[in-house]
Amino acid sequence: MVVKFENKEREYEEWCSNYKNGYVFNRAGGKTGNVLHTVDCWHLNVPTRKGTYTTRYPKYCSENLTDLLAVADELSKPNSWRECTACRNK
Ligand SMILES: [Zn+2]
Repeated sequence: MVVKFENKEREYEEWCSNYKNGYVFNRAGGKTGNVLHTVDCWHLNVPTRKGTYTTRYPKYCSENLTDLLAVADELSKPNSWRECTACRNK
């Protein structure tokens, strides 16, 4: 299951604290803006960005990587998405 959070900051934060091993797809659009993160990525935990994570760009969250990748592929058309170099490069 994939859950979308857009302008739902409280729900997003709650999801992240419930699924610490989950994945977050940030849909910023364009050719390089769509990025896959893991929940614990520092990019998703910058204090000054707290409270604006889902208002800047919608987030698609899932515990199931296969499910999330299917959504990421679909949403990114006709471009692609990329893995975060910080958290997905281990
Ligand atoms: Zn990341």
